Amino acid sequence: MFGESNPQVLVAGAGPVGLFAALNLARRGVRTAVVDTGVWPCKHSYALALHPESVSLLEQAGIAKQVLDGARLVRSVAVCDPSGTVAEARLDDLPGSITPLAVTRQDHLESALEAALKAQGVEVKWRHEVSALTQGDEAVKVVLGRLEKESRGYIVAHTEWVIGKTMEVEAPFVVGADGYNSRVRRAMQIDFPEVGGAEYYAVFECQCAGDGGDQLQVVAGEETADVMWPLPGNAVRWSFQLTDYADEEAEILKDKLLAAGFGHFPTERAKDRVAGGGDQGVEMLSDEHFRKLLAERAPWFKGEIEGIRWRTVVRFERRLAQTFGKGRMWLAGDSAHLTGPAGIQSMNAGLAEAADLSAELAAVLHGAPAAGLEAYSQRWQTVWRKLHQLDRAAQAKEGAPEVIRKNAGRLVACLPANVKHAGVLAARLGITI
Ligand SMILES: Cc1cc2nc3c(=O)[nH]c(=O)nc-3n(C[C@H](O)[C@H](O)[C@H](O)COP(=O)(O)OP(=O)(O)OC[C@H]3O[C@@H](n4cnc5c(N)ncnc54)[C@H](O)[C@@H]3O)c2cc1C
Repeated sequence: MFGESNPQVLVAGAGPVGLFAALNLARRGVRTAVVDTGVWPCKHSYALALHPESVSLLEQAGIAKQVLDGARLVRSVAVCDPSGTVAEARLDDLPGSITPLAVTRQDHLESALEAALKAQGVEVKWRHEVSALTQGDEAVKVVLGRLEKESRGYIVAHTEWVIGKTMEVEAPFVVGADGYNSRVRRAMQIDFPEVGGAEYYAVFECQCAGDGGDQLQVVAGEETADVMWPLPGNAVRWSFQLTDYADEEAEILKDKLLAAGFGHFPTERAKDRVAGGGDQGVEMLSDEHFRKLLAERAPWFKGEIEGIRWRTVVRFERRLAQTFGKGRMWLAGDSAHLTGPAGIQSMNAGLAEAADLSAELAAVLHGAPAAGLEAYSQRWQTVWRKLHQLDRAAQAKEGAPEVIRKNAGRLVACLPANVKHAGVLAARLGITI
């Protein structure tokens, strides 16, 4: 299936993190294979921005130019309240970075990664599901199911994707970049506990009469953190945190799983509430509700909205895996952590994890001690414990504006930074993490 020899590393999941891990492995001369249940790459732009730290990593992998093509560069972040801006920080002079924050579509990033991987001789095997994994002393045995179309139904015929052929592959290492419901994580029985309650956001992408500017705006309310992203072209994305809304079905399911001892199983992110141009009858996503949220929370916003082109309600859980892997199976990205959307931290930290894990795996495959992989897990536990403030709550610095003092903790998840820059950016806004 993978040519003449089995891969040295099998990457489960071809989202941005799996693709980047595979690219880094292939560039280091590691025989790599990538499989994904998807029929084709992501066609939505969920995580829409690349932190300056991520652009540097893409530069090192030789693809920053392609990814940045058409991106909007965001040069500062402002913390606002309904009366206007209370604090600002620059994003174009962060230590060691080559660009400011870059806003680009997630599918554009994934296409560039897939093309770069292909140039290294690795083609993603779409429609292949990792269905079982067994870890041995020398290798992991992976059962793959190939998804095939099957016609069903008698009166009304329809087509479904079902597992057709199954096959077994052996690889010395597996990277689990298979997203929030990770099969790889579950195969290792790694707990994935919640570290905070689920958050709901109503997200609106709007066409505007003019340019969206080059500032990211975070609006801190009594119990909310809303974000306005300028997008390429004349467009902006507003994400409003909802406090009086919950997906009852998802919350009941989560409670049932917890009661049955399956508290580490995340529940769905977005269900049938995903909508396109229209609100599809969901009041939370109506034009009126959007205008109301804008008037209440950001009355100072001057952008002339011409129309809403995409809208959705998304449920974000906050979780952290108890370890980023063991033995021959290692995790990166959403398979190991979940957080809110405001700072795009999950994907960006995931890209950094992918680069780090690939370097460790390549070293171990070339004879370095396996302790490097344990160290990988510990490093990223430390980063995420900090981002989730599990050991120490963020504090406002003396003299910081009242909005920052009241919301220091909540604002950490809104910082468009993950590893090196999170502390720098927090400090610029008057927060210590
Ligand atoms: C509806 C929605 C809205 C979002 N909005 C935002 C946002 O506003 N801001 C933000 O920062 N982030 C957002 N995210 C999250 C963001 O998309 C992720 O953080 C990012 O994609 C992480 O990348 P990843 O590669 O770790 O995981 P993913 O992108 O989830 O990729 C995992 C891949 O693994 C594949 N896979 C899963 N199971 C298997 C298996 N058993 N075998 C083979 N392949 C498998 C999947 O098909 C998928 O392609 C959103 C996600 C969703 C779903």
